[in-house]
Amino acid sequence: MITYLGLGSNLGSDKSHNLRQAIHLINEQAGHVLACSSFIESIPWGFVSDNTFLNAVITIDTPHTPHKLLDITQSIEREMGRTHKTINQDYTDRIIDIDILLYGNSCINDSRLTIPHPYLLKRHFVYAPLLEIAPDIIYPTTGTPLATLIEK
Ligand code: ADP
Ligand code: MG
Repeated sequence: MITYLGLGSNLGSDKSHNLRQAIHLINEQAGHVLACSSFIESIPWGFVSDNTFLNAVITIDTPHTPHKLLDITQSIEREMGRTHKTINQDYTDRIIDIDILLYGNSCINDSRLTIPHPYLLKRHFVYAPLLEIAPDIIYPTTGTPLATLIEK
């Protein structure tokens, strides 16, 4: 299934290296990486920190179900040394964050997974790199191009 993942890092001496390491591990464990956006810098969203983020979006082709894919991306986060999990939107600095933005045309809403990712339409550092690598992408819940939803 064609899937879009959002990556973010705001810790460590080399955030660009963190993103590249995550992409390498995703390619090995989660599915073939087909495309990668530019890396863009952003300020922390939802919490205060001096550490700016580096963000990117990648396209992967995964053989896994959405929940299995979440298991794998969370295991990669742990493998890369992420210890804190966000609970009740109490955001903190993180060496790597991997979010599932879109999974084919699927809409999922259960206790573990919300797809499309709830903040996809709200965060510039998510939709801008996504539109860079997938300018014509259709937003599943509305069936309209993502680009026109962002314009509004
Ligand atoms: P955040 O990305 O908001 O900073 P975390 O990465 O710690 O927070 O994830 C918190 C929880 O969000 C995870 O345990 C996961 O079950 C849940 N979650 C819900 N939807 C998604 C999604 N589309 N992608 C990744 N995690 C998700
Ligand atoms: Mg996350």
